[in-house]
Amino acid sequence: MRDILPADTARWRRLNAVFAEIAGSAGYGQVITPLLEDIGVFTRIGDATDVVTKEMYDFRDKGDRHVSLRPEMTASVCRSFAQHRPAALPWKVWYTGSNFRYEKPQRGRFRQFDQVGIEVLGVDDAHLDVEVIALAWEFYAALGLTEVNLIVNSLGEPEDRAAYVEALRTHFESSDLTEQGRATLAKNPLRVLDSKREGDAAAVAAAPTIADFYSSEAAQHFATVQSGLQRLGIPYTVEPKLVRGLDYYRRTIFEFQGGTLDSAQNALGGGGRYDGLVEALGGPATPGIGFALGVDRTLLACEDEGVFGDDTAPVDVFVVDVVGGQEAVAITAELRAAGFSADRGYDNRSMKAQMKLANRSAAPLAIIVGEEEVASDSVIVRPMARDAGDQQRISRSDLISHLKETS
Ligand code: AMP
Repeated sequence: MRDILPADTARWRRLNAVFAEIAGSAGYGQVITPLLEDIGVFTRIGDATDVVTKEMYDFRDKGDRHVSLRPEMTASVCRSFAQHRPAALPWKVWYTGSNFRYEKPQRGRFRQFDQVGIEVLGVDDAHLDVEVIALAWEFYAALGLTEVNLIVNSLGEPEDRAAYVEALRTHFESSDLTEQGRATLAKNPLRVLDSKREGDAAAVAAAPTIADFYSSEAAQHFATVQSGLQRLGIPYTVEPKLVRGLDYYRRTIFEFQGGTLDSAQNALGGGGRYDGLVEALGGPATPGIGFALGVDRTLLACEDEGVFGDDTAPVDVFVVDVVGGQEAVAITAELRAAGFSADRGYDNRSMKAQMKLANRSAAPLAIIVGEEEVASDSVIVRPMARDAGDQQRISRSDLISHLKETS
């Protein structure tokens, strides 16, 4: 877990603002769910995922309730839907916030990390899958990222998937797998496809692929999604061995990978269509689709691609207070109230020391309040850039209008 300091927070705000704008323009409303939920909300995600079995920050609270910091947000959003039962479907929501997973920290992998994402509940239409994927694509493009690869797959209908899982089980049982691979196989054969271990690689390469198990509905749904992406000019690769964490995924799943990131941490975000999660959380049978995009990793990709440039925003004005009275307090407040961002010097430091601070602030203007100015009810307005002209004495009552005219 780490601090995000002022030098980086402007980028965080920008990323969130871009995401909020894109989600809002497509009719999504923001949902804010608690950081802490009953553990049962997350165990419903499935017991074959490390996120649920090994990585949760769970504990008993003072009322002896077994709770956990959220490791992801899809389950919380589905819990919220099941609880509030919105009447108008689809329910289209977006979110932003921190998640907690007890993982091994490294570049792009933290124990507290942020995600932005959307979930849509109540519609099974393949065109919605296209919209959802396109929104994430648009978001990366709006940030200025160019090295993002979209990979898609379909897990078919639940029956297709079940038949495929059995075929995988048979295949892996007679293959060479690592000990961890065998343990994963016992829980969920699909997840073996996710293995990055060398000892599992040959068995994974020789595994059957899901496409051979699609029903005609599943094949049709996937074809519609792909033609929609083509229609929007969104490049993608079909990766038949892509599987994702949630046990409830069906039909479309997708992942975005950053071209500049190490392969172990190159997943920028991902999502898919799921069924059964709302039901498992006490709501009516409801189809869902959504994605979660890693904020920390997306910002690393932005840094690698140099998309932000210099994003420090200096204040408009720096007030140099050489008298140490109330005058500078009043001037600074007036400036801010008039819409100018303003910082100031404190502690009655020397003029020289405060001019240094003014320089460091990169404000284009310094306003100097000295004994003479207080006596004559005026201030000095000094342009800070070398070639920006001479300083001027301005009557105190004209200060704001003068700044408005000249800025
Ligand atoms: P997931 O919820 O596991 O599908 O993750 C969605 C996205 O969240 C990933 O593609 C990553 O970008 C990001 N993510 C997941 N776990 C972490 C982590 N421990 N640290 C930083 N980002 C993460």
